[in-house]
Amino acid sequence: MKAAEKLKAAIRDIPDFPKKGIIFKDITPLLQDARLFSETIEALAACCRDKPIDAIACVEARGFVFGAVLAHTLNVGLVLIRKKGKLPYATHQVSYDLEYGTDTLEVHQDAVKAGASVLVVDDVLATGGTIAAVYRLMEKLEAKVAGALFLIELSFLHGREKIKKYPVEAVITY
Ligand code: AMP
Repeated sequence: MKAAEKLKAAIRDIPDFPKKGIIFKDITPLLQDARLFSETIEALAACCRDKPIDAIACVEARGFVFGAVLAHTLNVGLVLIRKKGKLPYATHQVSYDLEYGTDTLEVHQDAVKAGASVLVVDDVLATGGTIAAVYRLMEKLEAKVAGALFLIELSFLHGREKIKKYPVEAVITY
């Protein structure tokens, strides 16, 4: 079995979570298996081979899991993006629309140096709204966005369209 197929087989579908109509991609079985977790990171790292990257940026909470290990593997810095009110130092903020209402993401103003090349990493690309907001945060930092990398892309939601300003890659596509 190809690496991506093996990882795909370990991802569990949870229907109607967190609300009716959503099929939640549960990645916890991947994390629980040491070999599969390590193969997941290898697959993500393989997508970064030709990219000069100074830092990985990721969004809480599941983005932190993959972002942190990938940053360590690639020996680059880590930028944490959090929901409003969680980061202690001066921040840049970006608000974006959700299905109902809005959400705000923040990043520390000194998270990366201007001109640094930053790769955005997350577990799932769904509608692309979150990562579009992260792009705007990176632009406020005057970072160079190297692209976005996901473990899973839900291609039927066409999130890629919203974030095609920079290169987009995913290990597993549904
Ligand atoms: P979006 O902004 O719509 O691309 O959604 C991005 C975030 O929502 C990702 O960081 C995922 O963690 C989470 N998410 C959205 N849809 C799903 C899904 N079907 N299964 C698991 N996580 C999801």
